[in-house]
Amino acid sequence: MQQCDGKTEYIVLDPDSPDADLIRRAGEILREGGLVAFPTETVYGLGGDALNPAASEKIYAAKGRPSDNPLIVHIADMEHLVPIVRELPEKAVQLAEVWWPGPLTMIFHKTDIVPDETSGGLPTVAVRMPNHPVALALIRAAGGYIAAPSANTSGRPSPTNAQHVAEDLSGKIDMILDSGPVRIGLESTIVDFTEDVPVLLRPGYINIEMLRKILGEVRVDPGIRNGAAEKGVRPKAPGMRYRHYAPKASLTIVEGPRESVTGKINELAAKAMDEGKKVGIIAADDTASCYHASIVKDIGDRNTDKEIAQHLFSVLREFDAENVDIIYSESFNTPRMGQAIMNRLLKAAGHKVLSVP
Ligand code: AMP
Ligand code: MG
Repeated sequence: MQQCDGKTEYIVLDPDSPDADLIRRAGEILREGGLVAFPTETVYGLGGDALNPAASEKIYAAKGRPSDNPLIVHIADMEHLVPIVRELPEKAVQLAEVWWPGPLTMIFHKTDIVPDETSGGLPTVAVRMPNHPVALALIRAAGGYIAAPSANTSGRPSPTNAQHVAEDLSGKIDMILDSGPVRIGLESTIVDFTEDVPVLLRPGYINIEMLRKILGEVRVDPGIRNGAAEKGVRPKAPGMRYRHYAPKASLTIVEGPRESVTGKINELAAKAMDEGKKVGIIAADDTASCYHASIVKDIGDRNTDKEIAQHLFSVLREFDAENVDIIYSESFNTPRMGQAIMNRLLKAAGHKVLSVP
């Protein structure tokens, strides 16, 4: 155990069998209204007691997050769902049977015990049961309900390890639990159950085909595909409105046939470097050696979801630390998580895409 600074305690925990005394202490901090960052299988979360309005307000303050961007309530046991939702559609129960605990968030009409501070003023609540022994133990130690958005400063890429959390939140929260890098690396899939037909609000590890296999008809929120959120159309998932996951540099995605993409990116990079700019490139295993730029990052095998998803946010953070001015990225349409990966990359790019023939 070590102290990062005067305020934030930094604790290393075995991801598979976390020390019970340390979990109890972290749970006490949450019960008293404090904030604890913790690992989940998707990204690290910044936790506060979901039923305590003051704790939710602290979460918004620590992240610098707009208070109308709701938090996800994390539970560890199915019986804790019933008291916080007005109704529980049969289809949601079916989905939970397959995917909870897991990278799935579901939206329901909320009951009064969920404070407006937690739901961002909405009459609905987002609920998830994470699949991580540390997260599940912490939720139980805290009394059953932890409100947790991603543990990053609002607008920065989500944290996929505890060092990312410390970079953004050291000194601003009570404790950081470090259980190493996360398994998935992208935030949960969000499905809204407050309409007649379930609506996919945010793609994640669970893709639309996997949802339809269980639920039948599922609609896709238009904000996901065309950047309506960034263009001012009010989306159903309020967080989608903000330019999330953004690196400090200007990021452009170049898409098209492989040779055209490498050629175009090299041409653009050469021009920018002539102008004295520091240029970063995001490439895959098979193309990284084709590029000439200040910094080239190989984020893995373009056909392996796990590699690309796990590295995406880290790479964007590394470019921030390296003070890159311009980033060019290939597009990564991996077989399963391609939609989620491109959703995050497009948001980071503010939807700047260059298609080459
Ligand atoms: P995170 O991106 O990890 O901070 O998770 C929070 C996100 O969940 C928000 O930005 C919203 O997009 C979504 N969310 C949470 N609660 C609701 C809700 N009641 N209705 C729709 N989306 C929600
Ligand atoms: Mg977030």
